[in-house]
Amino acid sequence: MCKHILNAQVSIRAPCCKQWYDCAECHAEAQDHRLAKTVEMVFACKKCKKAFRKNMAEYDESDEYCPHCDNHYVIDAKTPQAVIGVEGEDARVDARLIKDERIKENPSRSIFARDTTDRIG
Ligand SMILES: [Zn+2]
Ligand SMILES: [Zn+2]
Ligand SMILES: [Zn+2]
Repeated sequence: MCKHILNAQVSIRAPCCKQWYDCAECHAEAQDHRLAKTVEMVFACKKCKKAFRKNMAEYDESDEYCPHCDNHYVIDAKTPQAVIGVEGEDARVDARLIKDERIKENPSRSIFARDTTDRIG
């Protein structure tokens, strides 16, 4: 269970180690390598238990919903800082930025917004 995002609606598959995590911090705690960044994210909806892919370079408002059950999975996380990198209205602005500038690295605003690797150990 994720203790960082209490209301997580999806699991995310880490592109580096192919493991499922609820958030980047879970990955950081379980692994000693950095979470790889990817444009095509793989999610698993916690509601219907089905997996789906999203291209983060073409992320759109409609992509905030599970394609299988319409579960709105992009929500304000119940955590001091939104680990999935979505903070209210900013999400759509960010999505457009990502789209416009393609695969531009944006460490503070990407889906794995917080690199917590440094805190380990
Ligand atoms: Zn990994
Ligand atoms: Zn977590
Ligand atoms: Zn679903």
